[in-house]
Amino acid sequence: MTLLNYRADALRCTRCSYCKWIPFDLMKSWRFSKGCPSVDYNHFHSYSAGGRLVTALSLLDNRIEVTDRVIDSVFKCQLCGSCDVTCKMCRFDMEPLSALRELRFKLVEEGHAVPKHKSVMEGFRTQNNMLNKVKTKRGDWADGLNLRDLSKDKAEIVFHAGCRYSYDNDLNHVAKASVSILQEAGVDFGILGKEENCCGGRAFNIGYKKDFVTAATKNIKDWTNAGVKTVVTPCADCYYTFKRLYPEIGSEIKVLHMVEFIDQLIKQGKLEFKNSVPMRVTYHDPCYLGRQGEPYIPWKGKEKKIFGQVVIYEPRKPRYNGANGIYEPPRNILRAIPGLELVEMERIKEAAWCCGAGGGVKEAYPDFFTWTANERIEEASSTGAEAIISACPWCERNFIDAMKEGDTNMKVFDVIELVYKAIRKEDF
Ligand code: SF4
Ligand code: SF4
Repeated sequence: MTLLNYRADALRCTRCSYCKWIPFDLMKSWRFSKGCPSVDYNHFHSYSAGGRLVTALSLLDNRIEVTDRVIDSVFKCQLCGSCDVTCKMCRFDMEPLSALRELRFKLVEEGHAVPKHKSVMEGFRTQNNMLNKVKTKRGDWADGLNLRDLSKDKAEIVFHAGCRYSYDNDLNHVAKASVSILQEAGVDFGILGKEENCCGGRAFNIGYKKDFVTAATKNIKDWTNAGVKTVVTPCADCYYTFKRLYPEIGSEIKVLHMVEFIDQLIKQGKLEFKNSVPMRVTYHDPCYLGRQGEPYIPWKGKEKKIFGQVVIYEPRKPRYNGANGIYEPPRNILRAIPGLELVEMERIKEAAWCCGAGGGVKEAYPDFFTWTANERIEEASSTGAEAIISACPWCERNFIDAMKEGDTNMKVFDVIELVYKAIRKEDF
């Protein structure tokens, strides 16, 4: 696919602006009715999905040039996918999110990358992670845990920690808790440890498609060599990348997020919660586990023009509209933990507000990132919860960072940490 494949979408867009909101029937108040952080922060139509489709069309038809303002409007967007869900509430034949990604690929390929993203990609290319940390320290979180090393051994299940949980010292106890839970349930698994690679998903989202393909090809090869049939990850970004993007380049490996796996283990009676975790919590759906965490559906159709002007697709394209994201497994787990009370925010599941850091926004536009995260923290606070729970290290890092500058007493936990507390008494 190229941006040209979405020209018909850009023409079809009715400029209705529905993509700026959450679906109308899911709105509970005016205060929390907005869906697109980008247009809500920047107050200009070009910073919405519909506005970016106009930009895409103008670039394709050579009506405008790539200016700093064009670059700003294209990349000051979290690629959260809220626009994609709402657009599809009233349209059956549009994919604004895919078009926004293609717009980024085009700009990067033509030499218009965001400077901050260029330095992130230097780290990706030399150190093989998105945090520009030393490659050889990737598996340090597992030192002393005696886990099977799949760079030398074989197993059908690999636990993939991801860049954030591997290198973020405030969060890598979640990776340790994950493997401890798997051991408790008697799961036979291994890790690639120091040889684990970045999934490439964040590179893809900031516009570097070729680098993504290189990373994906290496991961698929390593898993195949180790006899892996299932990859389990606690990271929502890795999950989306493995589940939705890897099949496009030939991967047939099954993908589970840790919350799906834990939910299954609870249902199979393999995990027993011994401890009460008395806490009132609210759950934040990560964009890449929720509305973008839908199963991959292969499509190899063709674009066709009927009546001389109407573009259709044969067969019809798959309709990713967030309906089949991973929403219930994390909620099932939280409801099963003794003493825990789950209260919901107004914008949840496919209508969730983004944490603020997707699409390279945190790296390139810190003020916009902080504003977006604070919007979500305010919504979480309004429920009376004492903690925001999520299932993605990037969301958790972002909330922790945003809270440092605010005056909230809320805490941030991963679902896995709470499961660990309910199983084991001690903390990492
Ligand atoms: S992208 Fe979809 S929702 Fe947004 S203005 Fe265009 S048609 Fe309307
Ligand atoms: S992906 Fe999110 S931030 Fe970007 S245009 Fe769509 S709703 Fe707005």
